[in-house]
Amino acid sequence: MPVRVLIVDDQEPFRTVARTVVEFTDGFEVVGEAETGEASVESAHELRPDLVLMDVNLPGISGLEATRQILADHIGGRPVVVLVLSTYEAAEYGPQAEEVGAACFIPKSEFSPERLLEAWSAATTGPTAGTSSP
Ligand SMILES: [Mg+2]
Repeated sequence: MPVRVLIVDDQEPFRTVARTVVEFTDGFEVVGEAETGEASVESAHELRPDLVLMDVNLPGISGLEATRQILADHIGGRPVVVLVLSTYEAAEYGPQAEEVGAACFIPKSEFSPERLLEAWSAATTGPTAGTSSP
């Protein structure tokens, strides 16, 4: 079963980049795209993706608020991993992304199949995913 990915970004060029990266990554497929935080919350509810790639700066509610709502909506249901992406550096939004429950923050300039795989495996096999490590 491929990892089902929802891409959230208000800028079409970056959605295209993100889609290309996901399609080039073995075992991942894009199941939807959203242009606003509100739309992403709805899409995540309907599509139940395994992974959401979330932009921070969006019209309407921010990607951080959308992350909070998506994770709250999934409590008790199918787990979802949110990776927050931004053109800003990690120092800017990294701590806030963690605070709202995102698995990690990736600067858009560094987004690649390698970073995607690394973030996914850290989020799904790390101590927070339920496996114990000494
Ligand atoms: Mg944006």
